[in-house]
Amino acid sequence: MPSRTHQITLIPGDGIGPEVTSATVSILEAACTPLGCTFDWHTYNAGADAFAKTGEYIPKALYDSIEQNRVALKGPVGTPIGAGFSSINVALRKKFDLYANFRPVKTLPGLKTNYPNIDLIIFRENTEDLYAGLEVMINPDIAQSLKIITSNGSTRIAKAAFEYARKHGRKKIHAIHKANIMKLSDGLFLRCCRKVAEGYPEVTYAEHIVDNTCMQLVLNPYQYDIILTTNLYGDILSDLCSAFVGGLGLVPGANLGKECAIFEAVHGSAPDIAGQDKANPTAVLQSAILMLHHLNEPEAANKIHAALEKVYAAGTSLTRDVGGTVGTKAFAEAVIAAL
Ligand code: ATP
Repeated sequence: MPSRTHQITLIPGDGIGPEVTSATVSILEAACTPLGCTFDWHTYNAGADAFAKTGEYIPKALYDSIEQNRVALKGPVGTPIGAGFSSINVALRKKFDLYANFRPVKTLPGLKTNYPNIDLIIFRENTEDLYAGLEVMINPDIAQSLKIITSNGSTRIAKAAFEYARKHGRKKIHAIHKANIMKLSDGLFLRCCRKVAEGYPEVTYAEHIVDNTCMQLVLNPYQYDIILTTNLYGDILSDLCSAFVGGLGLVPGANLGKECAIFEAVHGSAPDIAGQDKANPTAVLQSAILMLHHLNEPEAANKIHAALEKVYAAGTSLTRDVGGTVGTKAFAEAVIAAL
């Protein structure tokens, strides 16, 4: 196979971001170089760190780099709670119109969890809903957030989910909503999902209300195959579903648009364990595996996935969040040794 070099924008992020992305990069390089696949990493930071250095929360050079490379691997960037600058993650998704957030939740071999053999996928709308960032103080005692749902946004996320189901032989899609209360906004979302579903008769289509979904998931997550939902419910259900497979340290994500894609874990910057060599890099590594498939490097993707499965099946070099004893770096070394 001829050698290939991929130009990738790398955002290490903050909190545990630099540790988990650097572990991931070292595994990618060890796995891919022997296959003739190399990377030019274009590294930029965003958030408070970038602001201190450049005066911009998202430096223009970072925007330009993503626009040029069209693929980014991103660590988590923290967002201050209740005040301060708005979410960098949301801003990047909106800027590049990365409307589909694809989050596969799958049990790794060997991990002891209360719910064995989970295999479900979340398709979360990524650009609108309450994350449009339209908030105002009506007066000092009344705050207002606008929930924006459009037929365009709803139809394209529904199409992404149904197309994925068709291509990968998945059987069932549940649209998750709260249209009994938010009749107009979630009602519009459901109407769009129903219309798209008509074009995919081979996929069973069902609807569940979000609060009931939380209970149903805990009682019996196996009834779900693909969850199709709006931005806020998708965010919350992703964290819930991560618990089925061992927690936030494991679940990857892809933010997909027509032009660009940003691959990042479901988890945030986890400041409580930052800088202590405690974080599990699996979620970012699995995001990088999704990136390799996107780059049409299935051999490299499968090689890393096989090594990851070997390490989990052996169970001797796991991080603390999944019951192990080793640190981020030692885990990465174990994956490299298993390649
Ligand atoms: P955000 O709202 O920014 O997405 P979140 O709700 O997903 O954040 P996190 O910051 O990701 O929250 O973390 C919640 C908890 O999960 C952390 O306190 C941390 O202990 C744990 N956690 C998250 N990611 C990891 C990881 N990669 N390895 C180990 N533990 C993690």
